This record gives sequence, structure tokens and C-alpha cells, in this order.
Amino acid sequence: MKRVILVIEDNEQNLYLVRFLLEKAGYEVIAARDGRSGIETAAAVKPDLILLDIQLPVMDGYAVASEIRRNPDLAATPLVAVTSYAMSGDREKTIAAGCDGYLEKPIDPDSFINDIRRFLTDDHSREKNP
Ligand code: MN
Repeated sequence: MKRVILVIEDNEQNLYLVRFLLEKAGYEVIAARDGRSGIETAAAVKPDLILLDIQLPVMDGYAVASEIRRNPDLAATPLVAVTSYAMSGDREKTIAAGCDGYLEKPIDPDSFINDIRRFLTDDHSREKNP
């Protein structure tokens, strides 16, 4: 069965690139354009991994991450922040909000899939060793 990745991203160009790379690598991609619908879609679909843009309208990615982590069904779902913020401290903020990791924009098409696989592999080992 294809692994499902939920991409919460408001920028169409970033979404297009990420979707292209993930689908080419064999993943099923579900997109949400804002934080609120991202949270609702995550709860409904229970994806294998969530890619979360931090710069979202109305509700930023930190708030989205915190709310996703409050859902017991999603407590162990790999949650990877994607942000173009270059300020130091962002990584710590994303981890504090419940993210497992952090990717920087612009997305590097050559390393992106390997970066994603790291988080999926971790998820597998957690399932085997509860
Ligand atoms: Mn954005």
C-alpha cells in the first residue's frame, strides 16, 4: 500500500514541487492549504507523515503542530516542519511545538526524498519497538 503524506502548504509553487517529488518517489500526496484544514485532514486521514509549512495564513505552523500533537491518534505521526525562516532558534521552536524535524526552503530536489525517508524509517522502528 502506498504511504500517504499530508502536505500543509499555502504556496502553490512549493506544493507543486513537493507533490511532484513525492509522487515520483511513489508516495500518495494529500494537500491542505491552511492550518485549520490541515489539522482536520490529518485527523480524518491519519497520514504516514505530515509536511508542515510554518509560514501559513491565520494559524502558523507552530500552532498547527501543537494542535496535531494534542490528538492522541496523531501523537506518533512523523511531523516535519518546512520553513524559509533563516533565523536561529527556529529549529528549537519547531521541536518545542512537537515537530520531529525541520527542512529548509528552498527544497533541494536532490536530497528531499532522502530527507523524508529518514523520518518514515524512524516511524517504522517505533512501530516495531513500542
Ligand atoms: Mn507558506
